Amino acid sequence: MRTQRKFKIVEANLDGIMAAGLCSPPRRNRATQITIDPRQPPRMYLDSLVHELLHCADWNFSEAKVRRMSRIIATGLWRMGYRRKHA
Ligand SMILES: [Zn+2]
Repeated sequence: MRTQRKFKIVEANLDGIMAAGLCSPPRRNRATQITIDPRQPPRMYLDSLVHELLHCADWNFSEAKVRRMSRIIATGLWRMGYRRKHA
């Protein structure tokens, strides 16, 4: 049985890289770290978070697939009122 990947989410200003979020590559016995830049507007923040969670869920998903899926999931969550409470 495959165990769930351990992961943690941190916020940090991502200056100098062209990304609003990052997901560390999977490593045996290491928690994956997702980093989200907190300076994004709430809608973009939600998309970035879902995007990086999808990388975490399956590192083999292509970037295009992750973008397609995160757009749909983040849009659905946003429409249902899910968003960050504080900015
Ligand atoms: Zn990505």
